Amino acid sequence: MTEIQMKNLRHSYYPNPKTEDDYALKSVDLTWEEGLAYALLGPSGSGKTTMLNILSGLLTASEGQVLFDGRDVTRLDARDRNIAQVFQFPVIYETMTVGENLAFPLKTRKVPAAQIKDRVGFIAEELGLTALLGRKARGLSAEQKQRISLGRGLVREDVAAILLDEPLTVIDPAEKMALRRTLKSVQLHLGVKLIYVTHDQHEAMTLADRVVVMDDGEVVQVGSPEELFENPAHKFVGYFIGTPGMNFVDCALDGSDLVVGNARFALNGAVQTLAGTSKPLSFGIRPDFLSLSEARPGRTIPGTVTRVENHGDEQIIAVDVGGAQMLARVEDHVRARAGENVHLNPDPQAMRVFAGQRVVDL
Ligand code: ADP
Ligand code: MG
Repeated sequence: MTEIQMKNLRHSYYPNPKTEDDYALKSVDLTWEEGLAYALLGPSGSGKTTMLNILSGLLTASEGQVLFDGRDVTRLDARDRNIAQVFQFPVIYETMTVGENLAFPLKTRKVPAAQIKDRVGFIAEELGLTALLGRKARGLSAEQKQRISLGRGLVREDVAAILLDEPLTVIDPAEKMALRRTLKSVQLHLGVKLIYVTHDQHEAMTLADRVVVMDDGEVVQVGSPEELFENPAHKFVGYFIGTPGMNFVDCALDGSDLVVGNARFALNGAVQTLAGTSKPLSFGIRPDFLSLSEARPGRTIPGTVTRVENHGDEQIIAVDVGGAQMLARVEDHVRARAGENVHLNPDPQAMRVFAGQRVVDL
């Protein structure tokens, strides 16, 4: 097992980068602990593949270091890093059988034949490939080929990390959940670090012990799925995670009160912290932590319902709170109609204030 560190890592695909915009990765400092399943989550173009390829050695970072257990591997070739990597689309040997494909990473490392047989048998079973072991890979479907690629990534027991870059893209949606479970169970069994790149928050949340959230070439937060949901450190995490994402409304400080729309909340001790910032303030709350209630001065936010969406056992209610919109997720028996005046009751534990993009400790 290996602890992997990234220190001041920066990468530009341009030979002479001039501005920050020329960098696909902008100063990443991160430690990947042993034995955990990580999801690397971010929108398309945020730098996930760049980061993964720097980790595996397919790409050399323009600046900074990659350390494996303290050893500098920044300039080491991919094949000398002991990492398994699975890509978005199948990478297999078409002329070999499925079994030969799965055995290949073990054969090249001179694993004894009996051990190869066991290991290939196990992985084939996990990935639903047992019946195909003797078949030539050529002629199989894209999905079957991707299962082989996954098997080739998971078959070795001695890797420092298994990297998977959106590996379920070609897999039928109905099969995805089962395959995610397989990945997780193999990772637990091996006790190896797994890094799974995805732009899909549900995939990240179900698979990972830790989620590394990226936006625009930067790591904005690392945390467990629960931490990211409950305590987003950055506005991006608030709205990228959760469906719908966190509500943000401009707010202002007035004496010792926080003014949100037509509502005021007493801040008590936190005023000092907020008074010190010159950045624009916004109030953040997840739709899950808003309910409808009677008016309670100092506790509720008055507004007008603009839209009600039914989602089976729950509803999403959109409320105009004085020019800004907030969404509340409420149970289906709550009655609200467009045009109606209501009072939103935020759970005090779940109220957050952001200065610029960053959360403020209240
Ligand atoms: P992600 O995997 O999150 O979609 P990438 O790491 O592929 O993001 O890309 C990050 C940024 O780097 C994007 O702006 C992308 O256009 C740019 N980029 C990626 N690969 C190359 C390349 N080979 N040459 C030039 N720019 C690239
Ligand atoms: Mg990518």
